[in-house]
Amino acid sequence: MLRLLEGFHYTETKEADKADLILINTCSVREKPEHKVYSALGRFRKLKERKGMVIGVAGCVAQQEGERMLDRVPYLDLVIGTHAIPMLAELLERIEVSGQRVCETRFDRSGEYLKALLPEKPLAKVKSYVTIMQGCDHFCSFCIVPYVRGGERSRPSWEILEEIRHLAEMGVKEVFLLGQNVNGYGKGLEREVDFPRLLDQINEIEGIERIRFTTSHPADLSDALIQDFSELEKLCEHIHLPFQSGSDRILKAMHRGYTKESYLERIKRLKEVCPSIAITADVIVGFPGEEEEDFKETLDLMEKVKFDDLFSFKYSPRKGTRAAQLQNQVEEEVKQDRLSILQKIQREITFQKNLTLEGKVEEVLVESLSKQSNQDVTGRTRSNKIVNFPGDMNLAGKLVSVKILKAYPHSLFPSAG
Ligand code: SAM
Ligand code: SF4
Repeated sequence: MLRLLEGFHYTETKEADKADLILINTCSVREKPEHKVYSALGRFRKLKERKGMVIGVAGCVAQQEGERMLDRVPYLDLVIGTHAIPMLAELLERIEVSGQRVCETRFDRSGEYLKALLPEKPLAKVKSYVTIMQGCDHFCSFCIVPYVRGGERSRPSWEILEEIRHLAEMGVKEVFLLGQNVNGYGKGLEREVDFPRLLDQINEIEGIERIRFTTSHPADLSDALIQDFSELEKLCEHIHLPFQSGSDRILKAMHRGYTKESYLERIKRLKEVCPSIAITADVIVGFPGEEEEDFKETLDLMEKVKFDDLFSFKYSPRKGTRAAQLQNQVEEEVKQDRLSILQKIQREITFQKNLTLEGKVEEVLVESLSKQSNQDVTGRTRSNKIVNFPGDMNLAGKLVSVKILKAYPHSLFPSAG
């Protein structure tokens, strides 16, 4: 959105009272961020009365709520859905010229909305995110994504490769490929290129030193993709593979399409092919009908895999999804207890994992100055762990070998170069 607006003579400001346009980008995957949108809008109300800027909401809450947002927030000017972003400047112009309030949430079946704008100015960034596909066809019973993002759509590979070559010319060293289910990449494209083949091609791009991607769905994780972790030298040794639950009964109710055993088999295969691989995942506690036994299965899976890190969530009912209609919702207190237990166990596992790196030399791609001190720089290992060490901005974009002197529970490794 920023890149689009730059083309229309907008410049970015971090101060709300200097803005002619305030755009709130939103997530609706859980209830809490959805509520935050309305409190953010509330905060800007006075400012709008005083200064009269344009206020808009973009993203998944905008897609989901549409006109209802305009009804609920009388000083809101624009609601722009997930497929309408390329129309942003046009819609703003319409608001300026006509003074009308605008809501645009139609899905774009042509796939035009996926086109990325290439930056014209030097990026001076080390790492860049590249969306390779959007939407999802999985319809897990708890998840709102397919409703607010539409079905899976892949960008043509030539366009992705062109974007990454362009980024490499601008100094980017690491690309992070994004999609709700990258394993599904290529479905529906005319010249069939699957995800492992796309990775092969990106691996050939001069100037790019590292490739990462997220997210992989365990049910679609192919042997060919697993093999890439040992064959493609630029593909970093890290996979994010959400499991959501360790209980087969719950996995079935979630419509995830795999069992605890088949998930563990995929992990085993990954570790065989790439013994140093770091594994992270998402997990949900308190899905409707989750009993103590189911929760124990989740803890058991965690103990077996020993994830490097976990993103853990309390189940949050999303209107319109199948799980939200189930009768046997779990009480908030039980969800909270389970989440606390799980997070305590994971903190210890993460710490133990980090400790195994003490004394080791790791390759770090330096990204920027550290937030804690401007005498230090920060970067990541190939396994995606954050490392801070003394240095200055001349190191940005360089691959540096760093000896890890001390590991901390929160994945930080202040170390010496
Ligand atoms: N496509 C990815 C996958 O299938 O693994 C996940 C994308 S989703 C946007 C990110 C994470 O949010 C999910 O892995 C899940 O753990 C969590 N999530 C999604 N819906 C949720 C809900 N209703 N309540 C709690 N957590 C949820
Ligand atoms: Fe949501 Fe991921 Fe399931 Fe798609 S695969 S429905 S994005 S959790």
